[in-house]
Amino acid sequence: MPTPQRMPAQRNPAIPYSLFPIPSLFPIPSPLSWLAWITATAALTAAMWSVRVHLDEAHVALTYLLLVLVGSVRGSRARGVALAFLSFLCFNFFFLPPHYTLLVRDARDWMVLFTFLAVAGVATHLIHRARTEAEEARRRAAEVNRLASLGAETLSVGRAEEALHAVEHVLRATLRLDACRIYLPDAEPDAEAVVIAAEQGVGVVERVDGTRRLLPDAEPRIPHVPEIAALSLPLRVRERTVGVLRIARADGLELDAGEQRFFTALSYYAALGAERVRLAAEAERAEALREADRLKDAVIASVSHDLRTPLTTIKALAHDIAAEGDGRAADIEDEADRLNRFVADLLDLSRLNADAVELRPEVTPAEDLIGAALQRASGTLQGRDVRVSVDGGSADGGDTMPLGRFDFVHSLRVLVNLLENAHKYSPPGTPIELSASRDGDRLVFRVADRGPGIPPAEAEHAFAPFYRARGAQPDVGGAGLGLSIARRLAEAQGGSLHYAPRPDGGSVFTFSLPAADLPGEPVEPGVSQEGTNA
Ligand code: ADP
Repeated sequence: MPTPQRMPAQRNPAIPYSLFPIPSLFPIPSPLSWLAWITATAALTAAMWSVRVHLDEAHVALTYLLLVLVGSVRGSRARGVALAFLSFLCFNFFFLPPHYTLLVRDARDWMVLFTFLAVAGVATHLIHRARTEAEEARRRAAEVNRLASLGAETLSVGRAEEALHAVEHVLRATLRLDACRIYLPDAEPDAEAVVIAAEQGVGVVERVDGTRRLLPDAEPRIPHVPEIAALSLPLRVRERTVGVLRIARADGLELDAGEQRFFTALSYYAALGAERVRLAAEAERAEALREADRLKDAVIASVSHDLRTPLTTIKALAHDIAAEGDGRAADIEDEADRLNRFVADLLDLSRLNADAVELRPEVTPAEDLIGAALQRASGTLQGRDVRVSVDGGSADGGDTMPLGRFDFVHSLRVLVNLLENAHKYSPPGTPIELSASRDGDRLVFRVADRGPGIPPAEAEHAFAPFYRARGAQPDVGGAGLGLSIARRLAEAQGGSLHYAPRPDGGSVFTFSLPAADLPGEPVEPGVSQEGTNA
């Protein structure tokens, strides 16, 4: 996938670019407000002076203190300190003997004055601290809100790639970067650091002097390294590197605490965006594969269907010609039969793939299925020694008939296929063993032979359509559809079909189906009662 294209120069008005829209903690005081507070101090002094005979030092000190507190709350710390000092002077000048001088005669008055100054100073400081903390908390809350809405907007854009463009754009604009780019895994990297970050999963710092330094992790933060010109950061989601974010600024990448937090949050968005792109691509690929599969099934179904009619005609004509005494017609008939079977298998496979196979499960004795299979395969087996054993598996040692609940026609087809394969792939003189037994809630058939078996590495592939053993003669056996159809038929009925090598050579195919009990029979522990009412 190519690198995300650059976003058009338009700016999303909903995305906030200013990180700190809240007024600074140290506003520049306007001269007018200073004048107002000096006037207020003067007015308060005048008012107290006019009634000085009724006031003692405590009244005056407390009133000035009130003024200092109100001034601190309404303004900056500087104003609080200035008001405290001004009040201190006024207090001394007008209300402490000798009046109208800054001299203090009595040592206790010094104590009053300095206590006043200390209390005013501490109160101003505490008010300032409380306000700073409140403003910081408000600032953080606003920042979190901004990042949350930015994240929502960034990641809710229509296409996943657009989310990445949006993150790049916002990072570049907000942190005043010269370059900001998100590299997806298959993008062409234009910086060596990007390749290192992607391969090693750690951050890579490029310094102004051209040297590089690897960071110990992939944490999304600007490290304390002097003169950083660029940072390449692997974007990781659930331990997987989904891309690399590279940011660069020629005059050095130094971010303050707020910008760091912003960068960290945005790099998480970038990682989520890159993961979204990956998932979207994966979903697209899966959909394309599904579509190709559907098409393939449709083609197979339609071609197989269309082949059937001419095959029937060929077979009928060959039959007529054979009746007239031409020996070659029998070969034509055989080949037509073979082709017919292949076409029928193809049709069945496409039906199984489309889950369009009809099942009629009924409670049936294992012996019935075995009898029918031996009869159906008798033409192929040609008198082959088949040793049959049926084990009732009754807990009291008595002879009971193992039952299963399965579709007779489909299960017959599986068992016949296993018998024919055992005959086909094992030496003629060796016996084939066919057994049926009850194993918990399963009715299990085993078909064992003394053939070469299937190499362990290929055992599972043998159940894939069109599998043929390596080096198999083209004219031996069918098209490699038998086992794949058999396994799907078994699974469609809630059963299974597995291969295992035999200890002394040969193959065992284990075909299991849901077991059943006769109504009224005691149910063994762990044995399903499914099918008892059938
Ligand atoms: P085919 O029509 O080729 O027999 P199957 O799907 O029935 O197709 O079998 C797939 C392949 O599995 C066969 O070509 C053969 O190589 C291998 N195979 C199946 N059954 C046996 C067996 N009893 N012993 C050895 N190999 C077997």
